[in-house]
Amino acid sequence: MAKIILVRGMHPNEKSAKFFTPKIAAKLRELGHEVIPADIPIEDTIQPALKRATVEKPQVDETFAFAAQLLKLLEEHPDAIMIDVHNTQYLPDRSGPDRPVRLKLHDPSKIKHNESPVPPGKDPYYMVNKPNEDLPMHYTIEIPAKYPHDPAVHQKTIELLDALGEPGKRNWKHANSLGYLDRVGLRQTQAAGLLGEEMAEVIARGIHEQIIPNHKARK
Ligand SMILES: [Zn+2]
Repeated sequence: MAKIILVRGMHPNEKSAKFFTPKIAAKLRELGHEVIPADIPIEDTIQPALKRATVEKPQVDETFAFAAQLLKLLEEHPDAIMIDVHNTQYLPDRSGPDRPVRLKLHDPSKIKHNESPVPPGKDPYYMVNKPNEDLPMHYTIEIPAKYPHDPAVHQKTIELLDALGEPGKRNWKHANSLGYLDRVGLRQTQAAGLLGEEMAEVIARGIHEQIIPNHKARK
């Protein structure tokens, strides 16, 4: 039995992650684990900053102001495992007929140059994460979702990218952060078969069988 701090809402555009988090929590409780849900207020995250971004001031970095909240939670529950739930762009794969999804460990540092950092397919994946000095070691789960094309968002992204200029475009952090302007479309995500009961089940089972048993060894 483990104590898990389950964080959601870090990126408010990631609506399927929000949808799944309470379902994952319920299944983890069924498996005998204690779950402490944590919602990160949206004003602390990247999307509101992006909405305020203008051509005059296009540079947006995630502030990590919410790190203080995460650290406080871990201080209150030093024995807990922190897991935050996110969405990633679904890239269809060509592996043939649908097979059951499974939670996979993904190591972005192993991605080759010019390769997409997002693995194709319907499998959710998790990463062992410490993206910033201020942030505690935690696990990030990424659930594939559809981001429908929104011409207005596309236009703003292009304008901001242009305003960043060449150095800004080459800066992965700046260019990549603009992706947070896109919102997950729940309808499209459902139509792609990414919003079913199986997804929550697979993620909860994956946490139970892969993350929890290996957590002590990683600390
Ligand atoms: Zn996210």
